[in-house]
Amino acid sequence: MKIPSFLDAKKRNKCKTSIIRNYIVDNKYINIGLNKKYFIRTYGCQMNERDSETISGILEQMGYEKVYNYMDADLVLLNTCAIRENAHNKVFGMLGRLKNLKESKDIVIGFCGCMAQEKDVVEEIINNKKFVDFVIGTHNINELPRIISECGDDRIIEVLSNSDYIIEDMPSKRESKYKAFVNISYGCDNFCTYCIVPYTRGKEKSRLKEDIINEVKELVNKGYKEVTLLGQNVNSYGKDLGYSFTELLREVSDTGIERLKFVTSNPWDFKLEIIDLMVNRKNIVPYIHLPVQSGSNSILKSMGRKYTREQYIELVNNIRNRVKGCSITTDIIVGFPNESDEDFKFTLDLVNKCKFDGAYTFIYSPRFGTPASLIEDCVSFVEKEERLSDLNKLINKYSLESNEKLLDKVVSVLIDNKSDKDNMYVGYTDTNKLINVKCDYNCIGKILDVKVTCAKSWSLYGEVL
Ligand code: SF4
Repeated sequence: MKIPSFLDAKKRNKCKTSIIRNYIVDNKYINIGLNKKYFIRTYGCQMNERDSETISGILEQMGYEKVYNYMDADLVLLNTCAIRENAHNKVFGMLGRLKNLKESKDIVIGFCGCMAQEKDVVEEIINNKKFVDFVIGTHNINELPRIISECGDDRIIEVLSNSDYIIEDMPSKRESKYKAFVNISYGCDNFCTYCIVPYTRGKEKSRLKEDIINEVKELVNKGYKEVTLLGQNVNSYGKDLGYSFTELLREVSDTGIERLKFVTSNPWDFKLEIIDLMVNRKNIVPYIHLPVQSGSNSILKSMGRKYTREQYIELVNNIRNRVKGCSITTDIIVGFPNESDEDFKFTLDLVNKCKFDGAYTFIYSPRFGTPASLIEDCVSFVEKEERLSDLNKLINKYSLESNEKLLDKVVSVLIDNKSDKDNMYVGYTDTNKLINVKCDYNCIGKILDVKVTCAKSWSLYGEVL
């Protein structure tokens, strides 16, 4: 067994990132997966979804065929998320089911993603989950073919705490033929006090602008309609290379992709020139996800967020005033250690002022190894649940209001798929709102004008014009 060497994330290497090109699966691994099936379950964010597409690409080059039921697979991979305790619990629940399956069937079980970067999780797997055949970290998925070929009687645990390279040209099996995620940077240098990402994903590394542009051009040539640029903090893209996110966004917009989105924006790095670009470029959609996390200045400070509520509200007003019909969504954590009633009221007040189109709301969940997990907390869980419920009522109210404004209006929709339940097509507006669409021909993959006929809190209904 190869035991990982975990390093302190804060001691991470400051060397320049190098690029490794022309990745290919070595010939000796190409037939390992022939006549075998793989199943991959992805937990968490779009970064993980994109990693799963890369992992699928590698496995299919090895000859494996994808299945959508883990009971049918010879190789099962869990691509995990470390951001909240809830995600942890789901993964361990799934491991329990896989243990039962392994008692009746000869399967290989692999564990990867952000939880694989957590020392306590890996120790738990080494000591108590002996049915897991291999663990591979987020920095070395390129080693997957070798690890799968070597694991047998010997379990393999290979996790790097960080990496100073970006691998270009990895194989990829994209989930959609119309919408694509394109990584622009990896990792994060911000160390918000509650967040595990800088420890699991390592230092921030930007891809070269040319590589990103080439990838988008290739997608345009293949008929893709929408690209979402991905980074933990897209606005700080390029700071390690000497150019800015605005430059990148302008050049990606020039490729002619029909819809261009980006996530995640951090309020303190958000440059006003992005707003100018959104106003002037039709293909940059009017949608911004802008996590605020709290409306209280004292909580923002203890979270290590480098802005005040006043600055955040000003930024939201600026966006709303200039980008017509822009939809703004956010993330909010309730019950951060020692959040007082007054702090929470500041959050409700900020929501009243910003009138978000939607929000992901969570009860704070301490992540082992982060500074916030060491703060003694005097707020009870019951109080936190009550706050979450109050917050959600307010978020739902504004989400419904924002959707109702679209009633009888015509919106642009990219159709994703068809729902078996009610025979309606399902897609997203350019403002990232989920919409169910009545249409009497197969419109999957098309961008259509749709008249909104019904608005609910979290979805719209409409008919193709
Ligand atoms: S910006 Fe803060 S919350 Fe976002 S990934 Fe980085 S450390 Fe985590």
